[in-house]
Amino acid sequence: MTEEKMTVGEDIVVSMQYQVNLDDGQEVEHTDRASPLEYLHGRRQILPALEQQLHGMSLGEEKEVKLAASEAYGERDPEEVVDVARDAFPESLDLTEGKEVAVRDEETNESFQAKIVEVGPEKVVLDFNHPLAGEALQFKVKIVGLRSATQEELQHGHVHMEGHSHG
Ligand code: ZN
Repeated sequence: MTEEKMTVGEDIVVSMQYQVNLDDGQEVEHTDRASPLEYLHGRRQILPALEQQLHGMSLGEEKEVKLAASEAYGERDPEEVVDVARDAFPESLDLTEGKEVAVRDEETNESFQAKIVEVGPEKVVLDFNHPLAGEALQFKVKIVGLRSATQEELQHGHVHMEGHSHG
């Protein structure tokens, strides 16, 4: 009896350990040995360019993947850096340069993360670019688990970890 070896592909739940570094070597993040990242392959739960590179890998395999900024979180957009009137912020809000603030669009009720670039007496400069925009990223990936997705996971388009529930 032959059994086809499972590899990273459509509808497979992939567990992986990874480390991400910027081009200059600075570490962005890494998974803990005890809690690898689990995702459903083919559903764009991770960066599509990374997902593509992982396709076909087998259990235990390691790979280094380099992504250009355009394949990761995009180039920096100067138009995403905007001036906001100082009095548009509540008095109580701590406006410190370098801090992150959540800004809500009154019309769409959507919330956006922005970084405070500059605080002046009249205006505050906010940067709405993704913190990793303009950065090429280097991933070191190791595949530590592969299994078929359940029917329910395929219907939902995401992985059900232990304790996952839909209330
Ligand atoms: Zn679900």
